[in-house]
Amino acid sequence: MNVNRYRRQILVKELNEKGQHILSKKHVVIIGIGGLGSNSANILVRTGVGSIDIIDYDLLDLTNLHRMSIFNEKDGGKLKCKILEKKLQRVNSEVTVRGIKKRITKENIESAVRNADVILDGTDNMETRFLINEVAVKNNISWIYAGIHTTVGMVMGIVPKQTPCLKCISHSIADNKTGEIPVLGNLPVTIASIQCTETLKLLLGKQLFGLITYDIWNQRFEQINIKRNPECICCGKELFELI
Ligand SMILES: [Zn+2]
Repeated sequence: MNVNRYRRQILVKELNEKGQHILSKKHVVIIGIGGLGSNSANILVRTGVGSIDIIDYDLLDLTNLHRMSIFNEKDGGKLKCKILEKKLQRVNSEVTVRGIKKRITKENIESAVRNADVILDGTDNMETRFLINEVAVKNNISWIYAGIHTTVGMVMGIVPKQTPCLKCISHSIADNKTGEIPVLGNLPVTIASIQCTETLKLLLGKQLFGLITYDIWNQRFEQINIKRNPECICCGKELFELI
């Protein structure tokens, strides 16, 4: 590893050179390349996380560009996972970036995340998030939930059996199923940045915050301390319904 390229962030005591070496050995899987997934992949590649799988099956559309800073108009109509792999590999040749064309299902999710140190949620639907939650709890893999809607984003790092899982807090998360999700273009990169900070802390074995919410229009940041539900069917009773 060329330590020198990271020297400005190694000066940050929360990371330091030892932490940089730890990051270079870690493997992260990002499920979904939208406003969150693309920005998080971009950040983690530049930060020097050793290997990153980015999983998505969709093509880039012009309507994506207001919130995905790494793509441009020439990328329109191409597979997001493959373009992102190419662009990010050029950013940092010391890390391994793999763009994987796949729609995550209950049949393929376990093999997709098998070697992950952390899974990042870059999806836009609760169905896939609950699938990630189950496979993460079942296989004891930490993951970072993140969601965005209009001007508000949410992030929560989940360490199975130690912190509340998504099912524990499902009553407090709105499921906006219908139609396109409205979102201000500069919100995802902000929430992705928070998601990546929590990812780095997980990879370095540091303490996480609970549920974080940020309203970028009203500049309101909140940390909500929540507790595990001992009766949770997922992390409490380990009744896995989806996989
Ligand atoms: Zn739970």
